[in-house]
Formats: sequence, structure tokens, C-alpha cells
Amino acid sequence: MKVKRKKQAKHLISVYRNFFGFREPFQVVIDGTFCKMSDQHNVDIKDHLGRYLQSEVECLTTRCVLKELELLGDVMFPAKMVAQRLKLHRCGHRKKPKSAVACLKSLLKENNSEKLAIATQDFELTKAAAGVPGVPLLYMYKNNVVLDKLSWATAKRVEDLSQGKTAPSDDQQGTIVALKKEANIELSKVRSTRKRKRRGGPNPLSCKKSKKIPQPIAQSNPDPDRTGKRKRRRRRANNVDSPKTQ
Ligand SMILES: [Zn+2]
Repeated sequence: MKVKRKKQAKHLISVYRNFFGFREPFQVVIDGTFCKMSDQHNVDIKDHLGRYLQSEVECLTTRCVLKELELLGDVMFPAKMVAQRLKLHRCGHRKKPKSAVACLKSLLKENNSEKLAIATQDFELTKAAAGVPGVPLLYMYKNNVVLDKLSWATAKRVEDLSQGKTAPSDDQQGTIVALKKEANIELSKVRSTRKRKRRGGPNPLSCKKSKKIPQPIAQSNPDPDRTGKRKRRRRRANNVDSPKTQ
């Protein structure tokens, strides 16, 4: 079962790598509910995630998550202790803290441009994150971390990208435009050289092929073959004759 789980996770991660540009270390933003679950089952989050995803993982949380855990009091104190060991990810709500759900939602925006994975047990956050294409969702089942299957929004974006590569996301379109601007001169040079080659190349080659294809010429070859044989015979005859005369 463990091998199967890891294989499934590896496959899902390859999708996020290839279609959404995820790179190591994978940044996983963890909320209070996930911290609480990991504490209940004595799971070391970073160690467990690294082994499960077979990748370098950076476990993060936000000030808003910590603030919310603090406000919830003793019930969530163990979860707060777990969350405090995680690195802080800047959410921009230092002056006006939001609820954990609202905070993590705001990090994802429309296209998860920061390439964040979300680790949560919260249904509302899960539902919101599933609506954004390219968000890996992690949850805990008993004492195991599970990388959720592709959400509907993610699967649809993957299908769009793989079928017609003409429909890239807004982020991809932006990078394509930027790259074109940067390499404008080089691209024009490459294109001009290619055109020159095409002008000279295809005409003689196509002519040669057209001559080779019709085979009636090969049928009319017997005559030249016979002449060739006659010539050879003549040469042999001359060669044989010459030593005798000498
Ligand atoms: Zn925040």
C-alpha cells in the first residue's frame, strides 16, 4: 500500500511539475486543522511529507494561521505549538489579520502564481482551493498524509493544455510574451536563415525525386546495359589480344 501511495503521489507531482511549473523545494502552506491532526497522530509533518512526496519540501504557515490558533485558546494549543515550528510565509495581513481560510484563499488568488500546495483538513478551504487550477491539496487520513487527486479545475486545465497547446493560461501567456520580447532579435535572425535555406533547398531535391519516381526509364535500360556489356567484352578482347601479340 505504501508503494502504491507513493507511486500515485509521484504521478500527481509530475503533473504539477509539467503543467503548472512546480519546482523543488515544494512550498506547502499548512493551516491549524492540519497541525492539530498531525499532533494527534504524532506525525512529523516535514519528515513525513518529504518521504511521501519523495521531494524536498518547505513547510510554511502564515501569521493569520498563528493568530487564529492563539485566539482559539487551549483547545488548539498543541496545534499552535506545531505551527510555530514552521516557517512563516508572508501573507500581507500583518496589520489586519484575516481568518486562516480567508488568508490562504488570498494567497492562491486566481492561478496560484506562487506555486503553493495547501495542507488542510478544513472543508471550506479545500473546496476553495479545488476551484483554483494547479493547487496540490494535502490532507491527513489517520496517520498518513495524502496528496489529493486532481481537482476538477486542475484536471480541466491539464486537458486544455495537453489537447490544444494554443490555449495556455494567463501566466503562461505572460511568460511567452516576455520571452518573445527578450529574444526578439535572435528569433528574427533564426527565421531569416531558415527561409534562405528553404529557397535554395527544395527545388533541386524535388526535381531529382520526380525523375526517380517514373520507372519506364528503368524498363528502357536494357539497351544501355547491352551496350555496356558489349563494351566490356570488347575491352576484355583487347586485353586478351594484346599479350598474345606481344
Ligand atoms: Zn494572512
